[in-house]
Amino acid sequence: MRIIPTDGELAGLRRQVLDFCAKTIPETVFGLERQGTMSDGDSKDFFKALGMAGWIGRHWPEQFGGKSATHLETAIIDEALGYGRAPLSAYLLSVKVFGNSLMLFGNDAQKAKYLPMITAGDAMFCQGFSEPMAGSDFGSLRTTAIRDGDDYVVNGHKIWTSSAEVATHMYLAARTDTKAVKHRGISLFVMDMTTPGVRVNSFGTLGGGVLNEVFLENVRIPADALLGEENRGFHQAMQSLDLERSCMDRVGASKFSLDQLVQYVETQGSDGRGGRLADVPAVQEKIGELRAKWQVARSFGYLIARNLDAGKGVSAEFSFGKLYVGLLTQAIADATVDIVGPQAQFENGSPLAVANGLFPAVFRASPALTLAGGSSEIQRGVIAVRGLGMPR
Ligand SMILES: Cc1cc2nc3c(=O)[nH]c(=O)nc-3n(C[C@H](O)[C@H](O)[C@H](O)COP(=O)(O)OP(=O)(O)OC[C@H]3O[C@@H](n4cnc5c(N)ncnc54)[C@H](O)[C@@H]3O)c2cc1C
Repeated sequence: MRIIPTDGELAGLRRQVLDFCAKTIPETVFGLERQGTMSDGDSKDFFKALGMAGWIGRHWPEQFGGKSATHLETAIIDEALGYGRAPLSAYLLSVKVFGNSLMLFGNDAQKAKYLPMITAGDAMFCQGFSEPMAGSDFGSLRTTAIRDGDDYVVNGHKIWTSSAEVATHMYLAARTDTKAVKHRGISLFVMDMTTPGVRVNSFGTLGGGVLNEVFLENVRIPADALLGEENRGFHQAMQSLDLERSCMDRVGASKFSLDQLVQYVETQGSDGRGGRLADVPAVQEKIGELRAKWQVARSFGYLIARNLDAGKGVSAEFSFGKLYVGLLTQAIADATVDIVGPQAQFENGSPLAVANGLFPAVFRASPALTLAGGSSEIQRGVIAVRGLGMPR
C-alpha cells in the first residue's frame, strides 16, 4: 500500500492551505511556534477564517457541516497548516478532541447542534480534563457534577486548560457518582463558558502563550449536556484522548523548523574563510539524522490516516505518533541551538534574531509537546500494553 500521498493527491490541496495561511495568519504570529503548545487571542480570528474557508472538520458527514472527506485529506490539510505556522490550539481542541469524540459517542441532536458551529468557526472548545491532582491519573479527578432536577451542578477546579481564555464551550470531565471506585463514576459534558459560576484565570507559559485554570462554582448545566453514558466517561475519555494524538500538524511544523535550519546552514559561514556550516560533516550528519526521523514521523501520520479511512483501530499507533513527533520536535530544537549557537537565543523582533526568532520559540515551546495530551511516559506505556499486549 502506498502510504505517503502522491504528488497529485498532495499538491493542489497543500498549495491552497499554504496560500490561505500566508494570507490569513497575523504578522504577530510569524516567527513563533504555536502548534499544540499554547493558545492565544490570535487563534480566535484564525479559527473563524479557517471555518469560512471550509477547512474545518471536512472528514465529518455533510449532514453535520462536514464534507465527508477522507482522513487522508484531513492529514494533508493538517500537515500544511502546521507547515504554514497556523495558530492551531482552538482547531485541535475543537475538531480533534471535542468534535471527533462527539462523532464517537454523542447523540444525533448534539452532533447536529455543535459540529456545524465548529465547522463554521463559531464554536471554539477547550478541554477541561486535567486538575491539580489529576493529570496522567485522570481517574483521580475531583470536580463533581451532581444531578439536581433537570440540571447537573458542577463544582471544581481545572488546570492547564488551553484556549479557555477564548473558548465558547468546554469539553468537561466531572465525577457524577462520588461513591464509585475512581475509574467509574466519571461523566463527560459540554459546558457553555458563559454560564454563571465559570471563572478563567490565565497565566503565561515558557512557550510564550498562555494556559489557564478554570474555577467552577455551582455551575448549572442542563442534563442534555451529558455526552454519551453517565458514569462511562473514563472509558469514553480514553477513546477521545487517542483521537487527540493525531500528529500531522506537528509533522508540518517540524518540517518548517528543519527547512529553516537547512536554509541557515547553507548561508552561514563556519570558519571566516568562505566555508559554510553546511560543509561541516557533523552538521550534515545531524541534519541527515533529523530528516530521516522526520520522514518516519510523516509516514506514520499518513499511515494512521489511511488506517482510519480503512476503518482500522489505531490506538497504539496514535500514541506512537504523539510520542515520536514530540521527541522529534525537541531533537530539532536542541540541534538548532547546538548548530546556530548563541544567536539562536534572540527572539522575534531583535535585530540579531535569525529565522524571525523561530529557533528560541521552538526551543521554549517543545518540552510542552511531551506533556500536553498525555506525557511521553504514558504514551510508552500505551504502546507496550495496548500495542504489544504486555501486562498492565
Ligand atoms: C502546554 C500544555 C497544554 C495542556 N492543555 C491541556 C488542556 O487543554 N486540557 C487539559 O485537560 N489538560 C491539558 N494539559 C495537561 C496535560 O494533559 C497534563 O500535563 C498531562 O496529562 C500530565 O499530567 P500532570 O501535569 O498532572 O503531570 P503528572 O501526571 O503528575 O506527571 C508528572 C510526571 O510523572 C510521569 N508519570 C505520571 N504517571 C506515570 C506513570 N503511570 N508511568 C510513568 N510515568 C508517569 C509523567 O510522565 C510526568 O513526567 C496541558 C499540558 C500542557 C503542558
